[in-house]
Order: sequence, then C-alpha cells, then structure tokens
Amino acid sequence: MRSHANAQGICYLTLVNSALVHYHEIALKRGNRPYFVRLLRQNLATSVHDLGLIGIKHLPARLLLNFEAAANLEEIRHRLQGVFGVANFSLVENCPVDLEVLKARILNALDARPFSSFRVETKRSDKTFPLTSPQINREVGGFIKARSGARVDLKNADLTVSIEILPDGVFFSFEKIAGAGGLPVGASGRAVSLISGGIDSPVAAYRMMQRGCRLTFVHFHSVPYLDKTSQDKTRDLVRQLTRHQFASRLYLVPFGEIQRQIVASVLRPLRVVLYRRMMMRIAEAIARKEKASALVTGESLAQVASQTLANLAVIEEAASMPILRPLVGMDKLEIIDQARRIRTFEISTIPDQDCCQLFVPRHPATKARLSDVLDAESRLDVPALTQLAVEKAEVEEFKFPPVRQR
Ligand code: ATP
Ligand code: MG
Repeated sequence: MRSHANAQGICYLTLVNSALVHYHEIALKRGNRPYFVRLLRQNLATSVHDLGLIGIKHLPARLLLNFEAAANLEEIRHRLQGVFGVANFSLVENCPVDLEVLKARILNALDARPFSSFRVETKRSDKTFPLTSPQINREVGGFIKARSGARVDLKNADLTVSIEILPDGVFFSFEKIAGAGGLPVGASGRAVSLISGGIDSPVAAYRMMQRGCRLTFVHFHSVPYLDKTSQDKTRDLVRQLTRHQFASRLYLVPFGEIQRQIVASVLRPLRVVLYRRMMMRIAEAIARKEKASALVTGESLAQVASQTLANLAVIEEAASMPILRPLVGMDKLEIIDQARRIRTFEISTIPDQDCCQLFVPRHPATKARLSDVLDAESRLDVPALTQLAVEKAEVEEFKFPPVRQR
C-alpha cells in the first residue's frame, strides 16, 4: 500500500499493483465459459503465485489480480505474457469510484512520463456511475490538458490513458499489453509431443499448448552410439516451454538399440520411415500410460524426405491415435520466425547429434511402399522393442516457476 494526498490534501490509500486481464471473448462465450475462466484463473495464479499475489477477483469479462505493493512489475508482466487464454492485460491502479480522486491519481501517475500528446479512452461497465464514457473522457482529458500542457490527439497519441469503470472500483492504465492468445492450457485435454531438439518440434508443441493442450514430452536419443547433446538441448527446450504449462514430464527414450536392429535387417532407403514408425508406436504406448489422446509432431509437408505425403501416410499407419501436425502447412521461414519469438530458436540451433542421423543414407526413400515396410518389420519383434523402450525410458519433471531449494 502507498499513501497519496489528493488535490484537497486528503490522504488516502492506494493498492498500486494490480493487473486487469482480458480473455478471449469469442472462444469463451460458449456454454462452458465458466469452466474456461476457472482454468484461466488457476493458470494465472500458478504463473505468478511467487510474485506477491494477494488474490484474483472475478469481474465482468475480466480477471483482476492484486499484488503486494513491493511486487516486481516487470516480472509479473513477463509471466502474464506467457499465459495462454489471455487476450491482453494492463498493469493498473485501482481507485475509489470518485472522479476527482481519479483525476488526481492519473496526474500523479503521469508525473514521470514524458508525452506531448494523449487521449483518454473510457469503458464504463458500471452504468450507475453518474457520467457516461464520453463525459469522463472530456472531464479527465480537459484536466490533463490543463495541467500538463500536452495536446489531445485521438489518432496518434504518444500516450493513451485507459479508464475502466467497474462496480468494484475505477482502474486506469497507460499501456495495453498483448497476451499470448489461444485457450487456457488444460482446456483441450492431454497430448504427447515428440520433441527432437530441432527447430520444428518445439514450435509445434507451443502451437498445441496455445490451443489448450497439456503436453507430455517424449525424446528419442541414441546414447551410447551418439553423445548426450540432444538430451541437454531437449531439457532446455522443455524448460522454456514449461513457462506456458507450468509442469511438464519428459520421457527420454533410448532408441539406439532399436536403430541398430532396424539397420541390421532393413535396406537403407527405408530406414528413416521405420525409425519414425517405431517412434510413433513408443510415443503412443507412453500416451496411453499418460492418459493422453493424441500425438504431436513438428512435421511439415515435403520439408524433408520423410515428410512427403506418401511417407507421412506410411508413418501414420503405425499409430492408432490421431497425429497432430500443427506445422504441416507452414514454410521453414515462418517456423523459424515463430521459434525466435517463443525463444526456442537459440536452443534448437546449438549443434547436436540427432538420433535420426544415425545409420541413414543421404537419399532416403521419398515414396516408401507400405507392403515393403511391413515386410521389413516382419523381421523385427516390434511389440517387444516397443515395450522395452517404454520400460527403459527415463522420466524427468519440470516446474515453472521453478521450485526454490530451501
Ligand atoms: P525437428 O526440427 O522438430 O527435429 P525436422 O524438420 O528435423 O523436425 P524430422 O527430423 O524429420 O524433421 O522429424 C520430424 C518430427 O519427428 C519432429 O518434428 C519430431 O516431432 C519427431 N522427431 C524426430 N526426431 C525425434 C527425436 N529424436 N525425438 C523425438 N521426436 C522426434
Ligand atoms: Mg529433426
């Protein structure tokens, strides 16, 4: 709490650190809207619980988060930007329903800000407030203009003063911050994400979380045939992605032995397709354990030989769960662009030894025939290899915000 004196010298208390969160109206308007809002509220609470959160209040079409006065606003801003389901938010001052107090508070808060033009934008949800929104705009605008000397500019203002009149109080802010959009994580069930350490799969994971999926991660590695770099990168990627779903489980699956057996009995051009089919089977077995109902990959049509329509169909045949490929219609530059924005690109581009490079030819088959693939697989004990891989997988847990060691 901070205390201020208003124009008449009357002292009053303010709760300075609040965030007013607006969620995606359209997606939440259907019958189960209260469920979505509850989930969003839970996720918001998890994301900032360690930053002096006092409580979260339900307001009409918004959520109000109240923080202690000493809270770290920069960190709060950063965390809220990562929560799916948020359309936008503002860090706001909350004041009593009184126009004179509001004007004084705004002026006080503007003290350190340089601006030569401004506009006032009011939303009045509490219709019992005596003035209409245009009247409030004029009153507050006239007051700021007289005290600051800045001019009013409705189109290109340096500064927008946003005022919201709600039954709970009056809120104002100077900045609307874009949220991560989408749906609250958990709203769309659970899926298993195949994550490689490359550029594409983390972007695919992000896009599915943004649609409300909670993900369990599965990574295949070829230790001891290759080194551990891909595992370390994957851990860093999962850590980064966990910012959006707050808790993640990662399965690290030893894949080298399976690859060795495939290599021993399958002609070179078909190997990559067989690797992929085994990955799908193992991921599906893990999905069943995790009560997940779909698999997610970073495949993008025709990006590499294993991603032609013909090969995707043969790979898909090995799994019975739906395989979600959110990048299927994106081109590489678009994917890279998003990888940079979600901060996975720097991790993905660290050199590593990826398991798919092991024992594969320069020119794999682009049109694998299912009959050839089934014939090759008949020489392997597919169920036993699948089961062994699941049993030998190591499991790691990730939390965000990270749990502090005492
Ligand atoms: P990425 O950048 O995600 O590695 P990519 O363009 O390199 O994709 P591929 O290597 O053909 O494409 O892999 C296609 C998809 O298969 C990946 O996006 C990922 O979902 C899955 N995948 C590939 N290798 C692995 C692995 N080692 N562990 C887990 N999943 C993998
Ligand atoms: Mg790859």
